[in-house]
Amino acid sequence: MEYRRLGRAGLKLSALSFGSWVTFGAQVDEAKACEMMKMAYDAGVNFFDNAEVYAEGASEEIMGKVLKKMQWRRDSYCVSSKVFWGGNLPTQEGLHRKHIFEACHAALKRLKVDTLDLYFCHRPDIETPIEETVRAMHDLIAQGKVFYWGTSEWSAEQIREAWGVAKELGLTPPAMEQPEYNMFHRDRVEREYHRLYSEIGLGTTIWSPLASGILTGKYAGGIPKDSRMNLPGFKWLRPKVESPEGRRSIEKAGELGKLAAELGASLPKLAVAWCLKNPNVSTVILGASKIEQLKENLAAMEVVPLLSSGVMETIETILQNKPQLPPNFLR
Ligand code: NDP
Repeated sequence: MEYRRLGRAGLKLSALSFGSWVTFGAQVDEAKACEMMKMAYDAGVNFFDNAEVYAEGASEEIMGKVLKKMQWRRDSYCVSSKVFWGGNLPTQEGLHRKHIFEACHAALKRLKVDTLDLYFCHRPDIETPIEETVRAMHDLIAQGKVFYWGTSEWSAEQIREAWGVAKELGLTPPAMEQPEYNMFHRDRVEREYHRLYSEIGLGTTIWSPLASGILTGKYAGGIPKDSRMNLPGFKWLRPKVESPEGRRSIEKAGELGKLAAELGASLPKLAVAWCLKNPNVSTVILGASKIEQLKENLAAMEVVPLLSSGVMETIETILQNKPQLPPNFLR
């Protein structure tokens, strides 16, 4: 396993980490979660990702039971939660001080830990003043309940605003962002955040490296019965394969699969390795509903050295979606 710094922060996370969205509490029960987390930990994974909204708390409960059962040294792994969607009442959602504190306490209880190593604002809250959110996160850090706080799916402008407010008021600024990043979804990580890496030292814990499984090639013959897009509550993901754009993604996945085969790799490994090639990615959060999937994805590190500049160019030719950075007019 390779370990990467979380942006400018000192913490080093495993380049591959493991998350529980969709899976824990739906496709993965406690016994299977135990097997998966052990497999990941034994492979060198030191970061497990979670959120208050995943399976309405059941995902964190399962992870907490596994962490307790495994009895790994607490200083050998990191665990996260995310705050935003905690319930249907106005007091139970968003990024106001009350919900941030209550959600943190509830997550600590479910995960059975004293500290959240990473705590994310799961989406921006456009109604709560940014100072209130930044101060609440700072106070949790000061109380030792959180080590690093960050954002998820915030615009560069929103991240910069939070960072600026923190600096101005002497509070702890956000250390990381959790954005979607995969071969089909690149613009934000590669273009929009471009200056944030060097200017504020932003780390990234990226999600959906396989575009919800499309970058495995498994959707070529329609939606498989046992995949997430067939689960109750997840049908909203279907346009990812059923829309005209979705159908183009499936075609491209087919071409990428052929390239992977030429390299002697599988498409999931190629797709994860491609994310790892980006030095601004601190960690790639893997998702898996089956033990074999996790085993395969954890082996993606071995494909990174095969991604020569020629192979990366071939991938660009297939994808045709390289984000354009602003031109530099200096001589
Ligand atoms: P992926 O895009 O990698 O999708 C994972 C899913 O793809 C699996 O659950 C499985 O679904 C399928 N799959 C994975 N590997 C294989 C394989 N080798 N062969 C065949 N099928 C495979 O990642 P996720 O979307 O799950 O995201 C990863 C993590 O990122 C989440 O667990 C969560 O922690 C985080 N996340 C954060 C978000 C945020 O807003 N901050 C949003 C979404 C995720 P199936 O078997 O059902 O087909």
